[in-house]
Amino acid sequence: MYVCGPTVYDVPHLGHGRFSLVFDVLRRYLEFRGLDVHYVSNITDIDDHIITRASAEGRTEGEVAAQYEEVWWKAMDALGVLRPSDTPHATAYIDKMVTLVGDLVARGLAYETDDGVYLSVDRIDGYGLLARQPLDSLRAGARIDPGEHKRSPLDFALWKRAKPGEPSWASPWGEGRPGWHTECVVMSLDLLGDGFDLHGGGIDLAFPHHENERAQAVGLERPFARHWVHNGWVMVGGEKMSKSLGNFTSLTDLLGRADARAYRLLVLRAHYRSPIEVTPATVDQAEKSLARLDDLARRFALSAPAGGLTAPRAVEAGADADAVASFVACMDDDLDTPGALAGIFELSRQANVAADAGDAALGARLATTVVILCAVVGVALAGAGVEVDGPTAALVAERDAARAAGDWARADQIRDELTGAGWVVEDGAEGTRLHR
Ligand SMILES: [Zn+2]
Repeated sequence: MYVCGPTVYDVPHLGHGRFSLVFDVLRRYLEFRGLDVHYVSNITDIDDHIITRASAEGRTEGEVAAQYEEVWWKAMDALGVLRPSDTPHATAYIDKMVTLVGDLVARGLAYETDDGVYLSVDRIDGYGLLARQPLDSLRAGARIDPGEHKRSPLDFALWKRAKPGEPSWASPWGEGRPGWHTECVVMSLDLLGDGFDLHGGGIDLAFPHHENERAQAVGLERPFARHWVHNGWVMVGGEKMSKSLGNFTSLTDLLGRADARAYRLLVLRAHYRSPIEVTPATVDQAEKSLARLDDLARRFALSAPAGGLTAPRAVEAGADADAVASFVACMDDDLDTPGALAGIFELSRQANVAADAGDAALGARLATTVVILCAVVGVALAGAGVEVDGPTAALVAERDAARAAGDWARADQIRDELTGAGWVVEDGAEGTRLHR
């Protein structure tokens, strides 16, 4: 699968977080189903925004791109997004892009003007397929920017001739740089081959970006993506955009103020094609739901299993086979994550009910299933793995002994001491449980 990555000129926004999570979940799920996923996601490290920022800040384009790429990976790591198999950089593919543009020119599908090379979309069969609109209505909505010397509003730049002072590479059409749409078609076909399975991105990329990638492949008579997957918008609540109401200004801002897993849960709660609302209120709600799952993992002292889970291995690791089958049925249905998540919360409820009723074995089996299925979609529940130092562990042991002996005063005294040291103290059947 190929997913359009970021242009690295600024901190990532909430929409970047959503597409990264959606495709991370899809990738994890495909691997869970036993598929060998080759996941390519590019880094656009040269483009107009990068050039503008570099010139405004008196830095090189390379410095700007390197800085924001680092910010990008930091955010992805915080979100728990697995690194793609390949992360090609546009500047490493310029030669191949020049070759591709040359092929399109040689076929008479592209033409040179004084500012670069453009693809003539009238020459492409089925142009407008991803936009789901006829060419005439697309043409009516398109415009030609000043400085763009193209024949028709829908034609797009394959090569942009450099202006003085801009970074540039040599080409048969003069010094310049490739257009954005050329980058992704070259890198996806190069790394995944013709007729690769799946091309993804946010719905805002369907047209013109993906349409234009596809147009180049069609022009070259090369089979392109067999499936397209586009995720929905991120909404932040219209007039509630103002900072005074505490809305998140960027993904980096959200990650600094909330549990990263809560954003993943929020994304999973909606179908990937639906819009989602990301506000402090919805993130707070997601954090509360997450706390219920963490509580369950803590109650049964379970932590997320290590990676590399497949469906059969999940059952071997103790997940309930029927529950896994229901989860798979939801996820196979166009990635119905809301349905899958509802199933997980129902299992969580049943696990607590069973444990409350004294059926520890059933409770543990259901809780194990919850922890494993959460791990499949990238939500690591924090159950075990709480670091307790020696003196604290000794206090816990003393408290359990006091309770066993019926010395409630001493037990309460130790609880207060632990609470004062920042621990949350819970009494379980198996003794005192601590978490931060
Ligand atoms: Zn792209």
